[in-house]
Amino acid sequence: MSNTNFQDDLISDTDSGSSEEATGSEDEVAAWIGWFCSLKGNEFFCEVDEEFIQDDFNLSGLSSQVSYYDYALDLILDADSPSTEILTDEQHELVESAAETLYGLIHVRYILTSRGMGAMYEKYKACEFGRCPRTLCNGQPCLPVGTCDVPRQSTVKIFCPKCQEIYYPRSKYQGNVDGAFFGTTFPHLLLMTYPGMRPQQPPERYVPRVFGFKLNAAALAPSLVDSQRNEASASALHPQTARGTAGSAPAANHSEQTRTQAKRKDEAGPSQTRSSQRLHG
Ligand SMILES: [Zn+2]
Repeated sequence: MSNTNFQDDLISDTDSGSSEEATGSEDEVAAWIGWFCSLKGNEFFCEVDEEFIQDDFNLSGLSSQVSYYDYALDLILDADSPSTEILTDEQHELVESAAETLYGLIHVRYILTSRGMGAMYEKYKACEFGRCPRTLCNGQPCLPVGTCDVPRQSTVKIFCPKCQEIYYPRSKYQGNVDGAFFGTTFPHLLLMTYPGMRPQQPPERYVPRVFGFKLNAAALAPSLVDSQRNEASASALHPQTARGTAGSAPAANHSEQTRTQAKRKDEAGPSQTRSSQRLHG
């Protein structure tokens, strides 16, 4: 694909973007943002106001966290940057990827502002983040949450305000999204901001029974016998590993490596798809 095609795509995307842009409404959303949020797996993201992104104060510190920052920012805002013509195809791919990261880092800041939280509140009311999979939560709507505020450490989870637990999102596409794009604070701040959205009833607890009888705590505690047995078998295995049956250790390493590669491939998947969706169509 030539650079010219890429530029054409950008232009046609912008043109076909939204008629709201032409009217210059107050809460403008760039066409790239609308496109990005409509991708499969990106349903948890809200559309960040262009105005918010155009304010340098809101982006402070992000330029050092994202490569190709200026290009990425121009891409997000659908701004014309003639200098992109000098980029190679590979660099264009990197800019696409950088724009996704930059948008995520802007998004986590935006959803903590009153405007951004309002947008997420609407999505929560519409149950767009999914429901708690726990039976006794009776389909309680959930909120997205990160377990770490540093990018590329963990994927997004959903938080149930009723049982106060976190779960993997139902869709594997959503499960590949970086948790740092939602952050550790967001759902809890939203529920403090909108107390009416907190579940009014405490969560019902599941009671295990055997032949109709409740069990005492000791019967439900993790089995001591089992853990002792595991320790014993681990130490029994240890000397064998040290002696090294030729080939068994490398084989184990190999399968671990293959799994890691598969995982990496998995992670790379959606990003590539996004790029090609954008570039080709
Ligand atoms: Zn729950």
